[in-house]
Amino acid sequence: MSLLVVGSVAFDSVETPVDKIEKALGGSATFCSVASSYFSNDVKMIGVVGEDFGEQNIQMLKNHKVDISGLDIVEGEKTFSYGCVYRDDMNIRDTLFTELNVFEKFDPIIPNEMREIPFLLLGNIMPALQLKVLDQMTNLKFTVCDTMNLWIDITLNDLLEVIKRVDLLVVNDSEVKMLSKDSNLIRASKKVLEMGPKYLIVKKGEHGALLFGEGKIFSAPAFPLETVFDPTGAGDSFAGGFTGFLTNSNEINFETMKKAVLYGSTLASFCVEKFSTKGIENLSIETIEERFNEFLKLSSVN
Ligand code: AMP
Repeated sequence: MSLLVVGSVAFDSVETPVDKIEKALGGSATFCSVASSYFSNDVKMIGVVGEDFGEQNIQMLKNHKVDISGLDIVEGEKTFSYGCVYRDDMNIRDTLFTELNVFEKFDPIIPNEMREIPFLLLGNIMPALQLKVLDQMTNLKFTVCDTMNLWIDITLNDLLEVIKRVDLLVVNDSEVKMLSKDSNLIRASKKVLEMGPKYLIVKKGEHGALLFGEGKIFSAPAFPLETVFDPTGAGDSFAGGFTGFLTNSNEINFETMKKAVLYGSTLASFCVEKFSTKGIENLSIETIEERFNEFLKLSSVN
């Protein structure tokens, strides 16, 4: 089935303890779309870029069969630019700059022919824009939403409105604690589930992810990597892999979601092995399956 992805498209400047890179392709919609394209053959992306975006980046998205007819290219303007630096503990990232540029006026108008798409992945953008997208969709079957600490800090009411209206929320461990004002992860997650979504995924970086819903909990490991190059986009790649797999499944229930969590983790593990989108650009289904099986082995006792 078709999947609509809405989010940011960016140039990222990233410094990690290993290396650094300037103005590389990034953005929540970019990582989400590429990661989901390995599972769904009909991914449509909504976003905005400036005239500096570059043919090479367009081509990369097209190579993944991502429909970019909803990607607005604004002449005379620059693409959203994000800079961050990672500490030695790469779970901690400090934002260096956020140049909104063309993103400042981003108004996600969903073309009429895309409003009936059943699966929606709301990548990390301002919650007011996520609400605007939800208002336009007419036939949603399942909506996944990602967010970040910034929105919990500065626009909580809008975010709570979004959370009420989505089927599944993906956040990291510190965000679920912030949202619920509870420092115990399990209590915090239950409180967030009471805010509206049927399912919740809590990402714990190098410690894996937890899925909550239907009164159950599933715990997935993270792939044990000795060298992480760049964690940027890992969360988006997770969300893309997860939602892409779900889009392609016949049934949406906790059992399917357990597998989807492992596919999301698989895509995230490839993402962090290289800078920018490079880690998820050239995968094959075979390589993905191979790592998925490694994930299964990690916590199997048979
Ligand atoms: P992740 O590492 O999965 O949390 O996502 C990183 C991506 O989020 C980067 O590629 C950034 O370009 C993008 N990003 C950073 N800040 C924002 C923001 N305020 N709004 C939307 N996207 C952002």
